[in-house]
Amino acid sequence: MPEMPEVETMVERFQRWKGWRITDVEVDPEMTPAAAKKYLPEDEYNTVIGQAITGVYRRGKFIVITTSSGALLCHNAMSGYWDSTLEPWTFDYVEGARKPHDSDVRVDLKLESAKEVWYVRFHDARMFGSLRFVDPAALATKLSTIGPEVVGSTHLYEPKEVITAEEFGRALNKGKAVKELLMDQSRMAGLGNIYAAEALWYAGISPMRLGMTLSGAELHKLFEECGNVLNAAVIRKLNYDGLKIYRRKTCSRCKGPVTAEKLKGRTTHWCPACQK
Ligand SMILES: [Zn+2]
Repeated sequence: MPEMPEVETMVERFQRWKGWRITDVEVDPEMTPAAAKKYLPEDEYNTVIGQAITGVYRRGKFIVITTSSGALLCHNAMSGYWDSTLEPWTFDYVEGARKPHDSDVRVDLKLESAKEVWYVRFHDARMFGSLRFVDPAALATKLSTIGPEVVGSTHLYEPKEVITAEEFGRALNKGKAVKELLMDQSRMAGLGNIYAAEALWYAGISPMRLGMTLSGAELHKLFEECGNVLNAAVIRKLNYDGLKIYRRKTCSRCKGPVTAEKLKGRTTHWCPACQK
């Protein structure tokens, strides 16, 4: 699943389209009616055609492409990624390279600048993602459910304050597993399955601990490590060589076996020897 650093990388690539115009849209004609509603249904794509792109931003794990009268709002979910026919970006994700397949293209946008024409494609094999066109009010409503960012970015849409240590402590002071709380985007935005596991490993805290049992010192350490792992991942872009615990067989610190167990449906990697 693309996480915040992957989305940030996509948003950085898309900066070049600022000022370009969306001159045509094609959607996958073979989707079920229910799926078709999530990927620019007819009334939305008819509105989009002809609009100029005014900016490309990130908020949480959403991509926000603003236009003259609203925004394209994209969530990549499990399997979404973008490429272009001129530049077939192989998306090297942690689970392995994603090669562009024509069969999983849900939306094809024709983008034009004064000098160039690009066909930009949104792929989503498993179809848990979405690409909608929303007016400014609907955009504000949708984004209002997202908590403050764990780390800032130059591409943030309407930057909310980055979460403070006090807010972080309050968000985790609950009787739920700490990893589940870290990944709850309404509490704080940016940590997914990979980077929550990594931050907890660096902090030496078990993902299964209830948030409310963390000491002040543990909260402080975890707060720092959450920022560190996300900032480092953004800098490394799509290079996963530095992961310490996620999908590893042995712990990078003690060399003992890594436990992989489900927590809220997500495989959670942690070291029982190093994480208490
Ligand atoms: Zn260990």
